[in-house]
Amino acid sequence: MQIGFEPKIVFLCPLCHKDVEMIYSRTEGWIADHGGCLNFSVMRKPPTIGENEFRTPLVFIDLESDFAIREAVEGLRSLVSEEEDLSKRSKIEAGIKRLESKIGFAEKRIPELLDVIKGGTFGLRIVSGRSAGALVWRGVEKFVGISYGNVQNEEEGLMLTSQEEETKGFILKWIHYWDGPKLVGKKAFPQPDL
Ligand SMILES: [Zn+2]
Repeated sequence: MQIGFEPKIVFLCPLCHKDVEMIYSRTEGWIADHGGCLNFSVMRKPPTIGENEFRTPLVFIDLESDFAIREAVEGLRSLVSEEEDLSKRSKIEAGIKRLESKIGFAEKRIPELLDVIKGGTFGLRIVSGRSAGALVWRGVEKFVGISYGNVQNEEEGLMLTSQEEETKGFILKWIHYWDGPKLVGKKAFPQPDL
Protein backbone atom coordinates (compact mmCIF):
# COMPACT_ATOMS: atom_id res chain seq x y z
CA MET A 1 0.00 0.00 0.00
CA GLN A 2 1.22 3.48 -0.83
CA ILE A 3 2.10 5.69 2.11
CA GLY A 4 -0.51 8.37 2.66
CA PHE A 5 -3.43 6.21 1.57
CA GLU A 6 -4.27 4.90 5.01
CA PRO A 7 -7.21 6.47 6.83
CA LYS A 8 -6.31 8.90 9.59
CA ILE A 9 -8.08 10.96 12.19
CA VAL A 10 -6.35 14.32 12.46
CA PHE A 11 -7.16 17.05 14.95
CA LEU A 12 -5.54 19.66 17.16
CA CYS A 13 -4.75 18.54 20.68
CA PRO A 14 -7.06 20.53 22.95
CA LEU A 15 -4.26 20.86 25.50
CA CYS A 16 -1.04 21.68 23.61
CA HIS A 17 -2.72 22.69 20.32
CA LYS A 18 -0.32 20.59 18.26
CA ASP A 19 -1.42 18.28 15.46
CA VAL A 20 -2.49 14.80 16.54
CA GLU A 21 -2.66 12.08 13.93
CA MET A 22 -4.41 8.86 14.82
CA ILE A 23 -3.81 5.91 12.56
CA TYR A 24 -5.22 2.41 12.63
CA SER A 25 -2.99 -0.47 13.58
CA ARG A 26 -4.21 -4.03 13.13
CA THR A 27 -2.82 -5.10 16.48
CA GLU A 28 -3.41 -2.02 18.61
CA GLY A 29 -6.45 -0.32 17.09
CA TRP A 30 -6.44 3.46 16.69
CA ILE A 31 -3.24 4.90 18.07
CA ALA A 32 -1.65 8.33 18.20
CA ASP A 33 1.96 9.20 18.76
CA HIS A 34 1.41 12.12 21.10
CA GLY A 35 3.79 11.13 23.88
CA GLY A 36 4.17 13.24 26.96
CA CYS A 37 0.81 14.93 26.47
CA LEU A 38 -2.63 13.31 26.23
CA ASN A 39 -3.63 9.83 25.13
CA PHE A 40 -6.73 9.45 22.98
CA SER A 41 -9.23 6.69 22.18
CA VAL A 42 -11.56 6.39 19.24
CA MET A 43 -15.15 5.50 20.05
CA ARG A 44 -16.11 2.70 17.70
CA LYS A 45 -19.22 1.44 19.45
CA PRO A 46 -21.24 4.08 21.26
CA PRO A 47 -22.70 2.98 24.59
CA THR A 48 -26.36 1.98 24.63
CA ILE A 49 -29.19 1.94 27.12
CA GLY A 50 -31.75 -0.60 26.05
CA GLU A 51 -32.31 -0.05 22.35
CA ASN A 52 -31.03 3.49 22.37
CA GLU A 53 -27.57 4.31 21.21
CA PHE A 54 -25.96 7.41 22.67
CA ARG A 55 -24.49 9.94 20.32
CA THR A 56 -20.95 10.59 21.49
CA PRO A 57 -17.88 12.43 20.25
CA LEU A 58 -15.57 10.33 18.08
CA VAL A 59 -12.42 11.01 20.08
CA PHE A 60 -12.10 10.55 23.83
CA ILE A 61 -9.23 11.79 25.98
CA ASP A 62 -7.88 9.07 28.25
CA LEU A 63 -7.53 9.88 31.92
CA GLU A 64 -5.71 7.09 33.74
CA SER A 65 -6.21 6.68 37.48
CA ASP A 66 -3.18 6.12 39.67
CA PHE A 67 -4.44 2.58 40.15
CA ALA A 68 -4.51 2.01 36.38
CA ILE A 69 -1.01 3.43 35.99
CA ARG A 70 0.37 1.19 38.74
CA GLU A 71 -1.36 -1.76 37.10
CA ALA A 72 0.29 -0.91 33.75
CA VAL A 73 3.67 -0.50 35.47
CA GLU A 74 3.35 -3.94 37.04
CA GLY A 75 2.57 -5.41 33.63
CA LEU A 76 5.63 -3.79 32.11
CA ARG A 77 7.85 -4.89 35.01
CA SER A 78 6.98 -8.52 34.37
CA LEU A 79 7.75 -7.95 30.67
CA VAL A 80 11.15 -6.50 31.57
CA SER A 81 12.04 -9.47 33.70
CA GLU A 82 11.39 -11.79 30.73
CA GLU A 83 13.02 -9.63 28.06
CA GLU A 84 16.55 -10.66 27.12
CA ASP A 85 17.15 -8.12 24.35
CA LEU A 86 18.94 -5.21 26.04
CA SER A 87 17.67 -2.44 23.77
CA LYS A 88 14.07 -3.65 24.12
CA ARG A 89 14.60 -3.84 27.86
CA SER A 90 15.74 -0.24 28.10
CA LYS A 91 12.77 0.86 25.97
CA ILE A 92 10.36 -0.84 28.35
CA GLU A 93 12.21 0.64 31.34
CA ALA A 94 11.86 4.11 29.80
CA GLY A 95 8.14 3.40 29.38
CA ILE A 96 7.90 2.48 33.07
CA LYS A 97 9.59 5.75 34.08
CA ARG A 98 7.24 7.74 31.85
CA LEU A 99 4.22 6.03 33.38
CA GLU A 100 5.46 6.46 36.94
CA SER A 101 5.88 10.19 36.37
CA LYS A 102 2.12 10.41 35.73
CA ILE A 103 1.17 9.07 39.15
CA GLY A 104 -0.57 11.68 41.29
CA PHE A 105 -1.72 13.87 38.40
CA ALA A 106 -5.15 12.46 37.50
CA GLU A 107 -7.06 14.68 39.92
CA LYS A 108 -5.06 17.77 39.06
CA ARG A 109 -6.00 17.41 35.42
CA ILE A 110 -9.76 17.36 36.04
CA PRO A 111 -10.38 21.14 35.77
CA GLU A 112 -8.66 21.53 32.40
CA LEU A 113 -10.17 18.34 31.00
CA LEU A 114 -13.63 19.32 32.20
CA ASP A 115 -13.12 22.59 30.36
CA VAL A 116 -12.30 20.67 27.18
CA ILE A 117 -15.26 18.30 27.32
CA LYS A 118 -17.61 21.23 27.95
CA GLY A 119 -17.07 22.10 24.30
CA GLY A 120 -18.71 18.78 23.36
CA THR A 121 -16.16 17.88 20.68
CA PHE A 122 -14.09 15.57 22.86
CA GLY A 123 -15.19 13.04 25.43
CA LEU A 124 -13.29 11.81 28.47
CA ARG A 125 -12.50 8.17 29.09
CA ILE A 126 -11.59 7.48 32.69
CA VAL A 127 -9.43 4.40 32.95
CA SER A 128 -10.04 3.14 36.48
CA GLY A 129 -8.03 -0.08 36.12
CA ARG A 130 -8.87 -3.81 36.06
CA SER A 131 -10.64 -3.30 32.71
CA ALA A 132 -13.17 -0.89 34.22
CA GLY A 133 -13.82 2.78 33.80
CA ALA A 134 -16.30 5.38 32.65
CA LEU A 135 -17.01 7.61 29.70
CA VAL A 136 -18.05 11.23 30.17
CA TRP A 137 -19.07 13.68 27.47
CA ARG A 138 -21.41 16.56 26.85
CA GLY A 139 -24.55 15.79 24.91
CA VAL A 140 -26.93 18.36 23.46
CA GLU A 141 -27.86 19.80 26.85
CA LYS A 142 -26.44 17.62 29.56
CA PHE A 143 -23.28 15.86 30.60
CA VAL A 144 -23.54 12.11 30.22
CA GLY A 145 -21.49 9.60 32.19
CA ILE A 146 -21.61 5.85 31.77
CA SER A 147 -19.38 3.12 33.10
CA TYR A 148 -17.81 0.35 31.03
CA GLY A 149 -16.15 -2.98 31.66
CA ASN A 150 -15.77 -4.90 34.87
CA VAL A 151 -18.14 -2.87 37.05
CA GLN A 152 -19.93 -4.12 40.14
CA ASN A 153 -22.83 -1.75 40.53
CA GLU A 154 -24.40 -0.53 37.30
CA GLU A 155 -26.47 2.10 39.10
CA GLU A 156 -23.48 4.10 40.21
CA GLY A 157 -22.22 3.94 36.65
CA LEU A 158 -24.76 6.29 35.13
CA MET A 159 -24.99 10.06 35.24
CA LEU A 160 -27.11 12.59 33.38
CA THR A 161 -26.75 16.13 34.58
CA SER A 162 -26.44 19.75 33.58
CA GLN A 163 -24.29 20.45 36.64
CA GLU A 164 -20.56 20.75 36.20
CA GLU A 165 -19.97 19.98 39.90
CA GLU A 166 -21.85 16.70 39.63
CA THR A 167 -19.85 15.81 36.55
CA LYS A 168 -16.65 16.50 38.44
CA GLY A 169 -17.86 14.25 41.26
CA PHE A 170 -18.57 11.45 38.79
CA ILE A 171 -15.08 11.75 37.32
CA LEU A 172 -13.55 11.72 40.81
CA LYS A 173 -15.53 8.64 41.76
CA TRP A 174 -14.18 6.73 38.77
CA ILE A 175 -10.61 7.91 39.29
CA HIS A 176 -10.81 6.41 42.78
CA TYR A 177 -12.98 3.47 41.83
CA TRP A 178 -10.56 0.82 43.07
CA ASP A 179 -9.22 2.79 46.02
CA GLY A 180 -12.01 1.59 48.30
CA PRO A 181 -12.76 -2.05 49.13
CA LYS A 182 -14.35 -3.88 46.20
CA LEU A 183 -15.53 -7.39 45.52
CA VAL A 184 -13.04 -8.47 42.93
CA GLY A 185 -14.06 -11.04 40.38
CA LYS A 186 -17.75 -11.05 41.28
CA LYS A 187 -18.62 -10.14 37.73
CA ALA A 188 -16.36 -10.08 34.74
CA PHE A 189 -17.80 -8.08 31.89
CA PRO A 190 -15.70 -7.98 28.75
CA GLN A 191 -14.16 -4.61 28.03
CA PRO A 192 -15.82 -2.88 25.08
CA ASP A 193 -13.79 -2.60 21.93
CA LEU A 194 -13.02 1.12 21.95
ZN1 LIG B 1 -1.09 17.66 23.29
